[in-house]
Amino acid sequence: MKSYRKELWFNTTQRRQLINITGDVKKCLTESGIKEGLILVNAMHITASVFINDDESGLHKDFEKWLEGLAPEKPHSQYNHNTYEDNADAHLKRTIMGREVVVAITDGKLDFGPWEQIFYGEFDGKRKKRLLVKIIGE
Ligand code: ZN
Repeated sequence: MKSYRKELWFNTTQRRQLINITGDVKKCLTESGIKEGLILVNAMHITASVFINDDESGLHKDFEKWLEGLAPEKPHSQYNHNTYEDNADAHLKRTIMGREVVVAITDGKLDFGPWEQIFYGEFDGKRKKRLLVKIIGE
């Protein structure tokens, strides 16, 4: 069995941002040379997510509105966590959007359903953060 590991770094311009990382993940898969197996992609921070959904701008605005409805960023004082920090909302958003995704690799490709794309969801950005790509198989 082969294994491959890589960290991908991001520094978003906004506090909250969704980035389509499907191309980066495909590049890792090509680099790994693995044709059959599993690929795991996870955020390495507790205020960011990795998830799979549609790359459609209206939907991305809907995510922002929905998450702000569930866990509004402001006022910061509404959260117990925000004594030395201001990112309680980002921890909550990350939890509901998920930590990681696992995708099957078949014949050297991500074995996706229609419209599936992988996203990095940043909820407390404007600083360097990373995610992990781990691939196992043969
Ligand atoms: Zn925090």
